[in-house]
Amino acid sequence: MKNILSCLRKLTLLTCLSSTLAGFSPDPELERFVMGLPKAELHLHMEGTMEPELFLKIAARNGMEVPYSEPDEVRERLRTAHDLPSFIEIYEELIGVVKYPEDIRDITLHYYRKAYSQGVRHVEMYFDPQLHLERGMGLDQVFEGLAMGKAAAESEMELTIGFIMAFLRDRPAETAMQVLEDAKPWHKQLMGVGLDNPEVVNFPEKFKEVYAKAKGYGLRLTSHCDVGQKNTIENHWGVIRTLGVERIDHGLNVLDDPELLAEVKARGIGLTGVPSLFYREIPGRLEYRAGAVKGLLDAGVEISIHSDDPGMKRGLYVGDLMLRAQSVTGMTRADLVALAKNSFRTAWISDTERAYYLAMIDDYVASFD
Ligand SMILES: [Zn+2]
Repeated sequence: MKNILSCLRKLTLLTCLSSTLAGFSPDPELERFVMGLPKAELHLHMEGTMEPELFLKIAARNGMEVPYSEPDEVRERLRTAHDLPSFIEIYEELIGVVKYPEDIRDITLHYYRKAYSQGVRHVEMYFDPQLHLERGMGLDQVFEGLAMGKAAAESEMELTIGFIMAFLRDRPAETAMQVLEDAKPWHKQLMGVGLDNPEVVNFPEKFKEVYAKAKGYGLRLTSHCDVGQKNTIENHWGVIRTLGVERIDHGLNVLDDPELLAEVKARGIGLTGVPSLFYREIPGRLEYRAGAVKGLLDAGVEISIHSDDPGMKRGLYVGDLMLRAQSVTGMTRADLVALAKNSFRTAWISDTERAYYLAMIDDYVASFD
């Protein structure tokens, strides 16, 4: 923040933010602390973890013609994303090269290795079956790819992995219900269900029956409530009261409404905050999001930080984002530890596992030197 303020005295805001973030260099000891801090990643999309290099590799081996030959050209395309709809458009374009289970294995394994190197010890990964079904993949292929990546990662590192099957809010609820039913043979591989893609009219009521059914199948419930969307406070109430979610993805606008804030706290709903950055500079985006995370943490909400779409948003993973959020809010080490603990407190794991991970954090903090 100090950098930004001194920079602001001399230059325009846009230049300041660009230079501040481009030249981001955290305190080395803080960086070592954050990267080694055990944490759970509860909000990321399998599809959004695909980095430009891997996108080109998969396109080439699948014989798909794409209008890019270099990773930087893909990044140039990603630089046109400036809000949720424009980002989703590119996201859906890039995921078009995925055809086989091996593609999903490679995408996820690359992510697991990166996340593990930044202290992640437990992952709950979103994936969007409808995106793949629409392109001709089978549900069996999607689940096979996820299982292959998980098996490879779990044999290679001390990481536990679960999956959240997401439904697309901008597609019909009937399709979501069909996917839920068709995925029955794989329900045991799922931790829960979620909702993503742009918020539409009728969200969340549109998915009431789908969520009731999923709950009946023993699946846990979460949903995105993206930041700054139309009717966002109403939608937060909707996912809580109509859908019965246990977590809200993003959920940063909870800070804007005292009554909602009290309800989220009373119900122990976890918020998976995301201070992620598009390739294009959006002045104030990081400051706003990181500030909301800090505000919610101070208000006693069980909020944590996650990477969302790291492969398509500057290759920034959860440790990178915690450091950037810290740099603009001045969060203390105790705050960062609280965020990491919240990630396990709100993870869909057993109480025994939760106690194990919380003790792991305490041991890490006590032994860090
Ligand atoms: Zn997301």
